[in-house]
Amino acid sequence: MKNDAFASALSQLEQVQKLIKIDKNIFAQLQSPQRILEVSIPVKMDNGNIQVFTGYRSQFNDARGPFKGGIRFHPDVNISEVKALSAWMTWKTAVVGIPLGGGKGGVIVDPKKLSENELEKLSRGYIQAIFKFIGPNLDIPAPDMYTDPKIMGWMLDEYEKLAGFHIPGVITGKPLSIGGSNVRGYSTAQGAFYVLKEAVKKVGIRKDATVAIEGFGNAGAHLAQILQKNGFRIVALSDSKGMIVNYMGLDVEQVKKYKEKTGSVVGYPGAEKIKHSHIIAQEVDILIPSALENSITVDNVKTVKAKLIIEVANGPITPGADAILAKRNIMVVPDILANAGGVVVSYLEQVQNAYGYYWSEEKVLKKLEQIMKESFAYVWEQKMKHNTTVRMGAYVLAINRVSQAMVDRGRM
Ligand code: NAD
Repeated sequence: MKNDAFASALSQLEQVQKLIKIDKNIFAQLQSPQRILEVSIPVKMDNGNIQVFTGYRSQFNDARGPFKGGIRFHPDVNISEVKALSAWMTWKTAVVGIPLGGGKGGVIVDPKKLSENELEKLSRGYIQAIFKFIGPNLDIPAPDMYTDPKIMGWMLDEYEKLAGFHIPGVITGKPLSIGGSNVRGYSTAQGAFYVLKEAVKKVGIRKDATVAIEGFGNAGAHLAQILQKNGFRIVALSDSKGMIVNYMGLDVEQVKKYKEKTGSVVGYPGAEKIKHSHIIAQEVDILIPSALENSITVDNVKTVKAKLIIEVANGPITPGADAILAKRNIMVVPDILANAGGVVVSYLEQVQNAYGYYWSEEKVLKKLEQIMKESFAYVWEQKMKHNTTVRMGAYVLAINRVSQAMVDRGRM
């Protein structure tokens, strides 16, 4: 298979097995999802022809609570990727100690090629196909790549029509008007900021540290704004079209406006466009990959100059590059901790849905901050105890928590 993401997820599990002794009966059960659905979704297209799309839902582990994870609409969706993402969701919910398991879904489709009408039919069709296998106490989907609050709104509506009653907690990342959270839009960035502050204290970086962020999308742009407001100097930003640099500091609000107008950060007048360099090679204190998988590899890792890397993207560092960074003593805060703010706020959204009682933005932020800070402290404790990297500290914490729940359920 071209992109065997699940093989990588299993190899991480083996690394943890070398560090701590996971019970062999538990380890055996963590080698595959508890359930995988493959569904066909027939959609009558605008031209009157039926097109059949393939969708998946992988429910990896529910020892700690209902399965939880997003739905991706992308042409490259494949079963290995969906399984891997569902495993990583299991570790992510465990690291931040929320009472949920891990799942993930996807549909093989290029949503940019669909009309709005076709996209709505596909979203509703996916819910019809998996209806019996989701629910607030069973499996709770959410947005992921190329799915958004509008799609979650259609999906919730379809679920409630089939169920025959209101049940907003079946899906998170909904529009605010139907039970969504007003923090969800920037929750991943905000969560990353809280762990970054903790990491900065450990590395000993000064408060006006310099930062480079790869990717200026939902997560990257919000984080750039939050960091600038808090006194950090954003010196390099990039998107799919290229990078801009200004060592005096970029004005993030102006860059955002420029990108909204032109479609890219490139060409922003208050910066240089540097052609023969890469964002990861910039002379900064903190590097934040916030775009794609596998952006730091064994081929380019030597150029990294930052003292601290915060993985806002999922899987931006290949295992080979990760080992080199560890040897060079460059601290990496791993994705399963750094970008967990999104799922934490999803969980808080679900709690509010269950109560039918909604909190202020300040209250949600306060809870998010507390969870992210505590999670960092628990991960750090494991890192020190096992004399290992922050990544392995996070994995040990997560897998110990999942294993304990499995033992307590007698699943061994
Ligand atoms: P997004 O689609 O909003 O933004 C992605 C950004 O990356 C865009 O600015 C795009 O131009 C840029 N990009 C694409 N190719 C690039 C390249 N080669 N070099 C530099 N930039 C490039 O996506 P997002 O929601 O911000 O997610 C970014 C990453 O964070 C993904 O890995 C995602 O899985 C992860 N993540 C996001 C969330 C969330 O809540 N948004 C939660 C958890 C994890």
